[in-house]
Amino acid sequence: MTERLSPLEIMTRLVSFPTVSRDTNLPLVDWVAEYLTSHGIEHHIWIDPDQPHKAGLYAHVGPRVEGGLVLSGHTDVVPVDGQDWSSDPYVVEERDGKYYGRGCADMKGFDALALWALVEGHYADLKRPLQLAYTFDEEIGCTGAPPLIVEMQKHLPKAEAVIVGEPSMLKAVTGHKGGTGFATTVTGYEVHSSLMHTGVSAIMEGAKLIDWANHRNIENREKPQTDLAAMFTPPWTTCHVGMVSGGTAHNITAGECRFWMDFRVVPGESLPDWEAAYRAEVARIEAEMQAVRPEAKIAVEKVFHVPGLVPEEDGAAETLVRSLTGDNGSHVVSYGTEAGQYQEAGYSAVVCGPGDIAQAHQADEFITVAQFEAGHQFMRDLLARLAA
Ligand SMILES: [Zn+2]
Repeated sequence: MTERLSPLEIMTRLVSFPTVSRDTNLPLVDWVAEYLTSHGIEHHIWIDPDQPHKAGLYAHVGPRVEGGLVLSGHTDVVPVDGQDWSSDPYVVEERDGKYYGRGCADMKGFDALALWALVEGHYADLKRPLQLAYTFDEEIGCTGAPPLIVEMQKHLPKAEAVIVGEPSMLKAVTGHKGGTGFATTVTGYEVHSSLMHTGVSAIMEGAKLIDWANHRNIENREKPQTDLAAMFTPPWTTCHVGMVSGGTAHNITAGECRFWMDFRVVPGESLPDWEAAYRAEVARIEAEMQAVRPEAKIAVEKVFHVPGLVPEEDGAAETLVRSLTGDNGSHVVSYGTEAGQYQEAGYSAVVCGPGDIAQAHQADEFITVAQFEAGHQFMRDLLARLAA
């Protein structure tokens, strides 16, 4: 397997592995490891000890010095369940100037280009190192990248800049909101509703927390915006409950009420501050409930934590991408990525990848041949830059 595969051949292989987040990605990682081994490229597999059917991979080419560049992509994809596909989602098919397949846009197209660049970089005379990071569990809350970043820093010389290749039509995306979410379970005390003063309705107490979110949204909208926040739509932090369940009958105070409380936080505000504010309100309401029934309680479990990507002043990643693409516009996006996690770990980070986020997660997901080719050219230019 010492042949050097083309980006399209690599993408075809990567798409053929149905790496839906709930399932294993080991066959994909093993194939990539074998391909890198055949070229004698240093790489490391990190198996998640909590779910050994998933792994990340990182690799390094060029001089073993600090200051290199990481190309980072997630290996997981969203499910195709219930979607109406015109062709097999796990077979890349070219039709009408587009490559169709699950992940072609988000983001195995970039993954393929990054792996291609790594192998080419291995055979080129790079002056600065190039690293590859393949993460997992991105689609279920960006939970795979942080431990992988820690491992990578232990075993590879630390790079300076990271390109997270989420589909951005190869524009340099320098900012996005942070996000964090809390599974909240309110436990009340059931009595007949005619005697509700002797019980605790988990639903009615939970509603107080949901209404707390309503009030925060009004406050956030009305307070003066920072310049940083003004780049985002909307330019304030939002608190949202998208699902709620609970109760057993209309005339029984609810024994349980469950919902997720999510925050999308503008750069400049901190996720831990919002978590602390929420937990303080939870504690206040829980104390009121326990004054009626000591067994009543509220459990809050953090289910995701994706730090925002803060636009950097003359950041190395942004500067590099701008010089390669010629794009000098400022772009921020409304979705979270792993770029904020790299930034939190001390890298300069930017989001830039081929394809359009509008095609992500859809039936008949595609990347245009033109975008894929533009991504290929981007990687050639990048290699030339790292060799200069
Ligand atoms: Zn993605």
